[in-house]
Amino acid sequence: MIIVMKTGAHESQIQDVIRRIEALGYQAHIIQGTQRTVVGAVGDERGKDRLQSLEVMPGVETVVPILHPFKLASREVKGGKSIVKVGDLEIGGPAVVVMAGPCSVESEAQILQTAQAVKAAGAKVLRGGAFKPRTSPYAFQGLAEEGLKYLDIARAATGLKIVTEVVNPMDVELVATYADILQVGARNVQNFALLKRVGEVGKPVLLKRGMATTIKEFLMAAEYILSEGNYDVILCERGIRTFETSTRFTLDLSAIPVLGKLTHLPLFVDPSHGTGQWDYVAPMAKAAIACGADGLIIEVHPNPAEAQSDGLQSLKPQKFQQLMDELRPLALAVGRRL
Ligand code: PEP
Ligand code: MN
Repeated sequence: MIIVMKTGAHESQIQDVIRRIEALGYQAHIIQGTQRTVVGAVGDERGKDRLQSLEVMPGVETVVPILHPFKLASREVKGGKSIVKVGDLEIGGPAVVVMAGPCSVESEAQILQTAQAVKAAGAKVLRGGAFKPRTSPYAFQGLAEEGLKYLDIARAATGLKIVTEVVNPMDVELVATYADILQVGARNVQNFALLKRVGEVGKPVLLKRGMATTIKEFLMAAEYILSEGNYDVILCERGIRTFETSTRFTLDLSAIPVLGKLTHLPLFVDPSHGTGQWDYVAPMAKAAIACGADGLIIEVHPNPAEAQSDGLQSLKPQKFQQLMDELRPLALAVGRRL
């Protein structure tokens, strides 16, 4: 249920509503809109009708049921779209935000060189994995904390924000001390222990869609993070498994307008993992902006042939620069900017 407060409702009236929600055994989540405050009451669906009685409380405009199983992620709790603030950077606002960098952090020199190149091209966030979820246990697993330290050095040198993956609930605290945005990867989209843990720390989360995750399951995964009180969630489409083998995955761009109808959360696209091949990245990145994505996450490596992971899908800095130049007029054409 959502309890819509009247415009100008008093803080004490909002507090009374929260107390009543909690007394009925539900969790209260305050959603501050530009016009009015909405209080989400989430919990056991059975007996939710008792919440209807809140309608007569002072300051309450109306009580509306949320029909979707995902509640806090739902469009219904919020009039407009959410903007996730990462320091001075706004994600989900009028500007399209690009995150770029190597699949894995490999050395201080590699991440510094990439950071400088992607910053010069207009990226606002540096990506790079220090903890890598690899299909093979024999493949490069990432530099762990050493990699996080190199990301920190690159942030200090460039002013870029850092997004990096966390794969283990036990590492969330460590990764959160270095990262500006915590990435939860496709393979962990339904790792509920991890989702709850990243929901507890005060850092924005980039949540990737699993390769076999329906849109509803994806939104329920986001709901795990939101229900812990972390409302700064960015969703990322990164390709799903289909019968097609010409690309690494099938980039489901229709997820962007579909999700846009269902949720207020910012929506990103990863054309690198979505296609698995560098020369498909630019066309799909353009298509992502055209269909309404709020941003992109793109793999860039100074020397893809030597990359420890995902070299085949990584752009060289010069190709990334060219793509960014081509994306600028495209963003303007769809009422955004880059
Ligand atoms: C990555 O971003 O490097 C990554 C492993 O992505 P995904 O979880 O989408 O496979
Ligand atoms: Mn990768």
